Amino acid sequence: MGKTDTNGSGRESPTRRSLLTWCGGAVTAPFGIGASAYSLDRSYQDTDGDGIPDSLERSVEFNNWVRSVFGEQFTGLDDSRRDLLVDVRYVGDWTVSAATRELIVELFRENGIHLQWLEHPTRYDRAAFERQYGYNAKRILWSPRSFYHQTIEPRLKNVAFQLIVVPGFADGPHERKLYSPATAAHGSDSKGYVNGLNTGNRAVVASRYSHEIEAKLILHEIAHYALCHSTDPTNTGVMGTNEEADLMEWEWEKLRGGLGAIRDTTGVDVLLRRCLWDELKPAQFRVPSGLAEHVGCSGCQADD
Ligand SMILES: [Zn+2]
Repeated sequence: MGKTDTNGSGRESPTRRSLLTWCGGAVTAPFGIGASAYSLDRSYQDTDGDGIPDSLERSVEFNNWVRSVFGEQFTGLDDSRRDLLVDVRYVGDWTVSAATRELIVELFRENGIHLQWLEHPTRYDRAAFERQYGYNAKRILWSPRSFYHQTIEPRLKNVAFQLIVVPGFADGPHERKLYSPATAAHGSDSKGYVNGLNTGNRAVVASRYSHEIEAKLILHEIAHYALCHSTDPTNTGVMGTNEEADLMEWEWEKLRGGLGAIRDTTGVDVLLRRCLWDELKPAQFRVPSGLAEHVGCSGCQADD
């Protein structure tokens, strides 16, 4: 105890909504996903700062709908706590181990975030998925015809973090990995072959045999919605040296304050992640003119 701060008040990083406002609000969606609803929706209120509007948290109809999708796994939304819905989609026959699931749920709850691990009832056929999307992170997460855009129900995109679990490439030099053109363009040592990738409110991970590695990878990719990598050698958590399946205290605090980053209305969310700008310099994302200069503005420095 003592780690939690569930009252939703106090010093917090700005929400994605406020960042967008500070950064000019209505920018053109870079992935062709329509106009910025953030700047249009003036009724948005989020008392607990979890990124799920109060109106939905209090909506019986919405709660019933989410339960109709996920069944009893879903225990309801509550605007007196910070919920984080993780919508888990499996490709093929892999299932994340119970030990990993329990560790992640417990860690988040100990740190003031009521994570609900929701396994989607649809399991995607491996062969069909490989044909259509391959193990290419762009085709899975962010291209206009990606798995994410074609498959995820719009209502869930806005309230849940999507975690897509894939088998990864079969035997060969990149076994159990996937390919990220953004990482490759960055000139990484991995040449773009990665174990997982996050683009804001969604991530894809390749299945792991070891529970410990699986837990660290999934925690890392979920945490990326509000946290960047850390090069501080004293950071022993999954964003730093990866020694412990945990985050640093300050990182938990930042995560609690960054839950609003889950909300997606435009796809711009993806681009406004500072980590992507710092690490990938995503010129290859065809950024609309005018957006790039805003990302470096003080309003986007969510952590300072
Ligand atoms: Zn990372």
